[in-house]
Amino acid sequence: MILIVDDQEANIYSLKKLLESQNFIVDTALSGEEALKKVLKNDYALIILDVQMPGIDGFEVAETLSGFNKTKDVPIIFLSAVNKDKKFITKGYASGGIDYVTKPIDPDILMLKVKTFSRLYEQTLALNEIQQVLRSEIEERKKVQQELKEQVDNLYSTLESLPQLAFTANGAGDIEFVNSKWLSYADANMMPATHVDDMDIRTVWAEAIVAEIPMELEVRIKELKSEIFRFHLLRIIPIKEKNNQLKWVGTFTDIDDQKQMEKKKDEFLSIASHELKTPLTSIKAYAQLLERTLNTKADDPAGKYINRVQSQVSKLNALITDLLDISKIENGKLKITKKSFDFENLLSNAIDIIYQTHDNNTMVIERQGDRIADAFLGDEIRIEQVLINYLTNAIKYAPNTERIIVHTEKDAHQVKVSVTDFGIGIPEHKQKNIFGKFYRVEESSVRFQGLGIGLYICSEIIKQHHGTVGIQSELGQGSTFYFTLPLN
Ligand code: ADP
Repeated sequence: MILIVDDQEANIYSLKKLLESQNFIVDTALSGEEALKKVLKNDYALIILDVQMPGIDGFEVAETLSGFNKTKDVPIIFLSAVNKDKKFITKGYASGGIDYVTKPIDPDILMLKVKTFSRLYEQTLALNEIQQVLRSEIEERKKVQQELKEQVDNLYSTLESLPQLAFTANGAGDIEFVNSKWLSYADANMMPATHVDDMDIRTVWAEAIVAEIPMELEVRIKELKSEIFRFHLLRIIPIKEKNNQLKWVGTFTDIDDQKQMEKKKDEFLSIASHELKTPLTSIKAYAQLLERTLNTKADDPAGKYINRVQSQVSKLNALITDLLDISKIENGKLKITKKSFDFENLLSNAIDIIYQTHDNNTMVIERQGDRIADAFLGDEIRIEQVLINYLTNAIKYAPNTERIIVHTEKDAHQVKVSVTDFGIGIPEHKQKNIFGKFYRVEESSVRFQGLGIGLYICSEIIKQHHGTVGIQSELGQGSTFYFTLPLN
């Protein structure tokens, strides 16, 4: 909208007609005072201002408008019949006007100017708007940056207070921050030196970076001024920052004392089980000799006692064998000898052994599922050991029940063997640890004797065959333990 300000109505009329003929919307004011009121109330793209008016003249109006934020950018064309000399023209510009037209007006020239100015004004408005958007965007960014900085500062002070070595890195894995503890192990932008026999941190981490997943690694690292490598648990996790960028936070926790203790315990287990095995083998042999020498009748208590000795010796033997297996696993010496064997045969052998060793039990073992007719390549004795372990547990942890199901499934890739019992079951939150070393479910550990190593050995045997182990169980309803073995 264009505002025409003139004290002569006739001037206004002709100018208004001229502008309206070119489709401009026009407003008018008959004095400087009226013009100021209107300008403050409405938005104008251009003001055509008569210089000579009674009261506030055109220059004063322009000066006032240049002082308001709202109006300072509105272009003004001064119109005057008299002030033609240069002094007045200059005054017009100084007071904020943009052009100066003297009367009599050349309508074509005036129209050209009006069009140019109103276009200029529109462009100025658009630019102002863009500027405003940009300004608020910059403000928003500054705010986010400030928040981010505060977050990062918080993280750094937390990491500084940790007893561990701690660091952060950018998405590509370049170290950005290390706490002061770090500096006794490495320079600020480097990983500590690792033992030659351990995995390379950068190689393992590079895989985690690609997959954007946390990583854990046990490595031996060395203090700068020491020659001794100590075991540390390295944990690095990815975190997403507020600006969606990925960052890595890592810690090295000293676990060397724990590792040494574990090593001593494993050594003790290994020595103890070896030492126990020798006298036990003699006891077993002498018990057999004694049984033959006594040649007892059926109702002779001596025969009964010698049988009990033999059965207890077998239990002890099984325990010691398990302990020996554990130390073999720890030393990487649990060897698997793969040979071709008949899987069906293995299944029926294991079931027979269970019946023989539990002859006073009324349990029935049902065989279900596919027959595994083809020859299978693996360590028959070790796989049988796994199945016997599952079955022994199924009997042990399902007292007063009479049914166990051995189910087999075979497809083009694998064989799956499951043992289901209807016994005490395992609470869901304990299931994930069940194959761990020395793990026993607290609730049942008082009622049932055991060491918590059978399932651990099973999982190691199956792992060596590149298979998987697992469990489905419901407390009070029973459990299904399974293992899978890949074919070929
Ligand atoms: P152990 O039986 O000597 O304790 P295992 O390693 O064979 O050791 O089993 C570990 C734990 O898993 C057991 O202590 C028991 O709590 C639980 N468990 C194993 N098999 C079953 C089962 N069939 N039903 C319920 N709990 C079981």
